[in-house]
This record gives sequence, C-alpha cells and structure tokens, in this order.
Amino acid sequence: MTQAPASGVDKSPVPLRVVAAVQRALGGSQLPAALHQPEFRGAEWTYVKDCLDTGWVSSVGAYVDRFERELERASGVRHAVAASTGTAALHVCMLLAGVGRGDEVLVPALTFVATANAVSYTGAVPHFVEAEDRTLGVDPEALERHLQAAARVEDGVCRNRETGAVIRALVVTHVLGLPCDLDALAAVADRWSLVLVEDAAEALGSHMRGVHVGGRGRLSALSFNGNKIVTTGGGGAILTNDPALAVRAKHLTTTAKQPHAWAFDHDEVAYNYRLPNLNAALGCAQLERLEDMIARKRVLAARYIDAFASVEGVRSLVEPAGSRSNAWLNGIVLDDPAQRDPSLEALAAAGLTGRPLWTLMHRLPMYASCPRAPLPVAEALEARVVTLPSSACLADE
Ligand SMILES: *Cc1c(COP(=O)(O)O)cnc(C)c1O
Repeated sequence: MTQAPASGVDKSPVPLRVVAAVQRALGGSQLPAALHQPEFRGAEWTYVKDCLDTGWVSSVGAYVDRFERELERASGVRHAVAASTGTAALHVCMLLAGVGRGDEVLVPALTFVATANAVSYTGAVPHFVEAEDRTLGVDPEALERHLQAAARVEDGVCRNRETGAVIRALVVTHVLGLPCDLDALAAVADRWSLVLVEDAAEALGSHMRGVHVGGRGRLSALSFNGNKIVTTGGGGAILTNDPALAVRAKHLTTTAKQPHAWAFDHDEVAYNYRLPNLNAALGCAQLERLEDMIARKRVLAARYIDAFASVEGVRSLVEPAGSRSNAWLNGIVLDDPAQRDPSLEALAAAGLTGRPLWTLMHRLPMYASCPRAPLPVAEALEARVVTLPSSACLADE
C-alpha cells in the first residue's frame, strides 16, 4: 500500500494514490468490492415465499398495492404507480407530459441512455443540455443561456428557433443519488413553459431542502433494477402529485383495460408495463430497510471524503449544500483526464470496482445528430469521473 509520508504530499502516480485512498476508506473490508451489491437481510424470503404459497406471483396481487402505498410514504409524493422497469416508467412520464412525434425534449447529455430512449419511443427528439460540475445534474444557468439563444416562447409554447419544433418538456436526472438544483430548474421550466420531469431512478431516499426528490416535477420515474438502492429484481415506478395523471399512468401501464368482472375492453393503445406481484413483494421487504441502507452508505461516503481529502489531483463528489444524498454511488473527479483509465485499471488490479460515468448521449450513434447545447462541463466530467465501490456492507467493518 502506498502511504503519504507524514512530512509531505504523496508524489506517487495518481492511480496509486487513488487505490491507496480507496483502501484507506474501506479499512478491513473484504475484497473484491463491487460497485453496488444488493442486500436481502429483511423480510424478502418471507414475502416472496408468501407469493409462491398463495399463487399470486404475476400481475395481480396485494404486494403491488402495498409497494405503491409504501413508495408514497417513503417519497412524500402523493401517488406512486408501479411499472415493469424504470425505462417503462420514464416512457409513461413522457406520454403523460404530452410528448409526441416531432416534439423536442431537453435531456441531460450526462445521463443513462434510458432517459433519451424514453423520449425517442414517443417519436420525439432529445435535445441535449449541459451538466453542472457540483451536482452532475442539469445546470440551470447554462440551460437558461441556451434557451435564450436557441428557443422562444410563443402563445405559451416553447419552440426551437432553428427547427421550429415544440420543446415540450425538460427531463432532469439526479445522478448517483446527488439531488440536482430543483428549485432553479423548476424556475427555468416555468419561465419557458416546459413540463418538468425528474429521472429519479438513482435517487430514492435523496432529499433537497428536506423534501424528497421526485415531487417537484409534474412526473418522476424511479428504478428498482438490481443495481439500485432498492431492488425488485427489475422494476420501476411513476411518481406524481396529480391524481388524474396517476389514474392515467395506471391505465397506460395496464393495457388500458376497463375495470370489469369479465370483459376484455381496452379503450386505447397502451402497454403491459405492470410490475409482477413477486417483484413487488421483494420491493416491500427492501423498502423496509431503505433508511438503514442509506445510513450505512452515508458512513461509507464520509470515509471516502475523508480518505481523499489529502489526495492531490483528485476531488470527491459531495452532496450539494442543503441536500441529503442517498449516497447510492460514490465518485471522484480527477484533475487530469489522462489518469482516468489508468486509475480504473489500478483499481481493478487491486480487486476494487471502479467505473467511468456514461458515454455522453450525443456521442452515441443514434443520438449524434440531435440538437444540443454547448457541453464543455459534461465533456469534462465524462473524461474525469470515476465511481467507487459503494455497497452498504463495505461500511459494516
Ligand atoms: C437505472 C436507470 C434508469 C432505467 O431504469 P431500468 O429500471 O434499468 O429500466 C433510468 N435512468 C437512470 C438515470 C438510471 O440510472
């Protein structure tokens, strides 16, 4: 292990400094250390067995309702509608935001591909916007500047000056669990007549100024994929404070079937995006342990911040002022982008999992020709961020 001499600064190569700092943060933890490992320490076996014992494994059953009510309690958002994946939930958010063929939707360049795909499924075009250095979320000031240059509002509708297309909505992603600047972003959305949608897939349990994320946008999406802080194996949810939108979300995710004792009457083209009861049962057990997961992940986050405080050439990603992050994934930003891949390799060689952020959306072949704002900050982050082993169990030593 490379240790900084007490007398001065560690002059070893950056990748070795990164590995040494991670090892300091993890103390005696067992290796290999995964990025995020699911945990089944609660009632998972009991609830899943209950589904098997009663035969309620599929699209009908009490755990789906219970999971939705518990998500409402956990998030403080009035209505939660379970869905088969986070991507499906985002798709439904787009449909309910009124996004359709020929529209544009402002989407972060720095997000998971599902955010942009959900826009594309509706026939609309993603229009990529700039990230902020501190939160990794959409930068409200850069967004305002870009809209002033590229858009105008006419009869209450925002249009792209160049393409003439309606810019219907703004999606913001809470990256790694760090809440983005929702107050400022909501103000921009209001000023430009944009429907605000939150991709809160990574941010269950994150708060901004005491309020859970996901309730600021007209609609929000959660994910319960295996790598998220609460998992149902695969799953998602739509959150909204609007009761009419919640009813529509349920309708669209359940093939638009009219409630009836026996008739198969469907009143529009819709989707089978239901979350099976089996998965919801797992989710109910997972949600009971959410606060414990967050508490342990936050202990780990504090250890990383401490371990990297004295490491030159590296800064930690920390929760923005006034927020509580769920600490889903920890990350560092390297001063020198040339050190990213060597650092990832050095971590792997030491049995530690590190990952880069996503490839920016406008670099993916299907999105290369989409409209976009200048993206220097997103590009700098893409080249410099490394995420670190963040399983809650790593804090248990
Ligand atoms: C995981 C994730 C999604 C998609 O969720 P799935 O459940 O995997 O479909 C969307 N956006 C972000 C930011 C994510 O991290």
